[in-house]
Amino acid sequence: MQALILEQQDGKTQASVQSITDDQLPQGDVMVDIQWSSLNYKDALAITGKGKIIRSFPMVPGIDFAGIVHSSEDPRFHAGQQVVLTGWGVGENHWGGLAQRARVRGEWLVAQPEGLSSRQAMIIGTAGFTAMLCVMALEDAGIRPQDGEIVVTGASGGVGSAAVAILHKLGYQVVAVSGRESTHDYLRQLGANRILGREEFAETRPLEKQLWAGAVDTVGDKVLAKVLAQMNYGGCVAACGLAGGFALPTTVMPFILRNVRLQGVDSVMAPAALRVRAWKRLVQDLPSSFYTQSATEITLAQAPEYAARIMNNQTQGRTLVKIA
Ligand code: NDP
Repeated sequence: MQALILEQQDGKTQASVQSITDDQLPQGDVMVDIQWSSLNYKDALAITGKGKIIRSFPMVPGIDFAGIVHSSEDPRFHAGQQVVLTGWGVGENHWGGLAQRARVRGEWLVAQPEGLSSRQAMIIGTAGFTAMLCVMALEDAGIRPQDGEIVVTGASGGVGSAAVAILHKLGYQVVAVSGRESTHDYLRQLGANRILGREEFAETRPLEKQLWAGAVDTVGDKVLAKVLAQMNYGGCVAACGLAGGFALPTTVMPFILRNVRLQGVDSVMAPAALRVRAWKRLVQDLPSSFYTQSATEITLAQAPEYAARIMNNQTQGRTLVKIA
């Protein structure tokens, strides 16, 4: 079978498609024939070596995949069943989805949600799943469409695109923040009501004019600091990303004077029940136009090239990898 293999040479990460055999796959109780995987920001960090994602080499990257169970020792899964995997350190410390086959632990899998094809499941992928978790976090904080605008940062990326599309479908007024003018038509098609430039989110005072009922932040650093300073009284920010950096140059003022909530969102270790709930919501609340608007389909051999493009902020939406 073919797999993208990451190796280290002179401290640098090298990526190449190689032939491997089943017995090279790591331990696990379910073997999956992979049909689709995708490239997320974390995959791009891993494949280019720009982030310390992988700690032991050789490694097959790919933090998500959708496919068919080949064989299973886990009673919850049977041969022929369609399954989806996101997170759990797969593609980081356990060989991942950018290969024709993976052997994983049954508890990491979810049955493919009814109403989705495996291709659609990977157009959603980790990014879309995380966007749904962010929207659910805003709902849990009591933020409703009538409360005001929701700002989405890194809006043209995988998480951002899905967040814009879901929030629009749910009736929220969505303001997209993007660093590129070239994304504006795309963002409007996804449902953004207004678009702001990233440069407007550079400098921040501890408190600014209140603008946002809620926020989905995929960027971190100064952009998140600005968003926090502009939150309405009682607003909530769902923060899931660091595309602009992992720092957070803020003050306590939004929290102690405006009752703002900063809700962290993690998809990797999300518990099974939450996963099932989020996937059901995706089937229901992600418009079907998202699959055509946001997906760029590539081959396994193109993965290194597209990983570099993601790191250079030259892609938009989701990068889908056709495996079978
Ligand atoms: P993408 O690369 O698809 O999107 C990131 C977007 O961020 C870009 O499209 C760009 O949007 C914006 N951006 C890029 N570089 C910068 C920069 N230097 N400063 C400010 N904005 C920038 O990534 P994903 O959507 O897959 O992931 C987004 C973030 O969310 C990543 O940090 C990722 O690690 C994180 N993430 C976290 C998860 C979790 O479980 N917590 C799960 C999935 C993702 P534009 O051009 O429109 O400005």
